[in-house]
Amino acid sequence: MAFQLPELGYAYDALAPHIDARTMEIHHSKHHNGYTTKLNGAIAGTDLEGKSIEDILTNLDMSNSGVRNNGGGFYNHSLFWTVMNPNDKGILNGELKETIEAAFGSKEAFMDAFSNAAATQFGSGWAWLCVLPGGKVEVCATPNQDNPLMPGVTCGGTPILGLDVWEHAYYLNYQNRRPDYITAFFNVINWNEVAKRYAAAK
Ligand code: MN
Repeated sequence: MAFQLPELGYAYDALAPHIDARTMEIHHSKHHNGYTTKLNGAIAGTDLEGKSIEDILTNLDMSNSGVRNNGGGFYNHSLFWTVMNPNDKGILNGELKETIEAAFGSKEAFMDAFSNAAATQFGSGWAWLCVLPGGKVEVCATPNQDNPLMPGVTCGGTPILGLDVWEHAYYLNYQNRRPDYITAFFNVINWNEVAKRYAAAK
């Protein structure tokens, strides 16, 4: 079974004004769709066909640029859509709140660390909140479509929150103002989903 472009689960305009409808439509229907199609092409007829995306990325040959770029792109965007939600966002609470406060000191200090990782990623890439074995969390960033599941990526653990800082993710609305886009992202984080991912990963 080939990989399928996942549904967003909400309308393209649902995250406006924080993320505008046109950006969401192009990002999902063109960019993510492109990664999905190219991933399927890259694994067709190889022993990767039929494996889960997590299995493919965890055991990836990093010199396989077709699978690295498009498998990363497929996985990263699939996570990204779920950690945003305009309606049922929830709040940071419970065990994840305690874990974040233990690691960073406060929710605000976490937001500063995450924002800094996103703002200082040179060129294209992603900022992440990851869960390490044992349940501790850390913030980091990766270039291009790399992600923390891949071998040798120093940013360890399982990603539970990710922010796309490629220009295609924000340029139509924010132009060069990446920091404004990062600030806006905190208004649409789906904490219920992040907590669910934390519970599954820890
Ligand atoms: Mn993207």
